[in-house]
Amino acid sequence: MNQPHLYDVAIIGGGAAGLSAALTLGRARRSVVVLDAGQPRNAPAAGAHNLLGNEGIAPLDLLARGRDEARSYGARIVSATVTGASGSAAEGFTLTTQPLPAAEATPTTIRARRVVLASGAVDTLPQIEGLAERWGRDVIHCPYCHGHEVRDQRLAVLATGPMWLHQAKLIRQWTDDVTVLLDTQDAPCDEDRATLESRGVRIIAGRVEQILTADDRLTGVRVAGHAAPLPLDAVLVGTRLRIDSALVDGLGIATEQNPMGTFVPVDIQKATNVPGVFAAGNVTNPGSMVASAMADGVMAGALVNMNLIDEEFARTAQAAQTVVTASAEPA
Ligand SMILES: Cc1cc2nc3c(=O)[nH]c(=O)nc-3n(C[C@H](O)[C@H](O)[C@H](O)COP(=O)(O)OP(=O)(O)OC[C@H]3O[C@@H](n4cnc5c(N)ncnc54)[C@H](O)[C@@H]3O)c2cc1C
Repeated sequence: MNQPHLYDVAIIGGGAAGLSAALTLGRARRSVVVLDAGQPRNAPAAGAHNLLGNEGIAPLDLLARGRDEARSYGARIVSATVTGASGSAAEGFTLTTQPLPAAEATPTTIRARRVVLASGAVDTLPQIEGLAERWGRDVIHCPYCHGHEVRDQRLAVLATGPMWLHQAKLIRQWTDDVTVLLDTQDAPCDEDRATLESRGVRIIAGRVEQILTADDRLTGVRVAGHAAPLPLDAVLVGTRLRIDSALVDGLGIATEQNPMGTFVPVDIQKATNVPGVFAAGNVTNPGSMVASAMADGVMAGALVNMNLIDEEFARTAQAAQTVVTASAEPA
């Protein structure tokens, strides 16, 4: 049976990190395939901010440009979900792919000498009626991504974990109208309460029951034990990030946890604990933004290329040594 083509590098995920790695590897004359399920984390947002040269660009427009740029250097981009991964640097890696509906016909198996995991992370949202529908619009997670767009408005911090105190202090930079909704979290100690109240931050106890909307805008929240809804313009919420466990388990990649979620630790070479598997972007850092995911991807691409170059020189040097040894032997 014919073996599928062996790419130099397969990149799992075609977001900011994966496409940046593909661009770098394409320019380094590597054969590279990007396998992308097409759901970047910031897709619900109107614009990607803090992005010099592309400030405010629609997230999917940015990636469409990135795909074109990577393709112009020979990268192949396949719309597919990687559902399984196995192999090693010595034997090559095998990725099982599920083509997306209406996408180009693709083989279900991809082989590559190296893998870059750039599959991002998924936000786990609190289960509150009406919240998911507003995610990335006026239910937001990051003041740097959305704070300027909601400046001077009525904001609430929905406390979901120990980071809520930090979030309440942070968002106060963008507006002087901040309310903390404690929901399931404990009330703060007297000192923390006094610190927040010293800059006008209010604290409300009680379960948040519903996010209220009108005319496609968030208008407030309903809190248990409070007769009237609290009028608001936006809600800041801490999410927990999870990563695709089928991929990390299949390849034996180690993961770690921090208060923001699960991630894949990498060393300074962007290498995971599995030889031949590199990682970049949100999958390695829950706090990563678009620009840092791009920088990660470029570095991962360059370092994978060097890793392959080292292997190629080692192979030719060994072959040359074998020839020298053989010709030096008496006939
Ligand atoms: C609502 C929101 C708004 C944001 N706004 C900003 C902003 O304004 N500025 C900013 O700098 N940052 C912003 N961010 C953060 C930004 O989204 C991330 O930093 C960025 O998307 C990380 O890029 P990435 O390439 O690592 O992951 P992603 O962009 O998430 O890309 C990962 C890709 O991998 C694919 N994938 C996942 N699993 C598989 C698989 N098994 N097989 C194939 N493909 C797979 C996904 O479908 C996706 O296309 C925002 C985040 C959110 C949630």
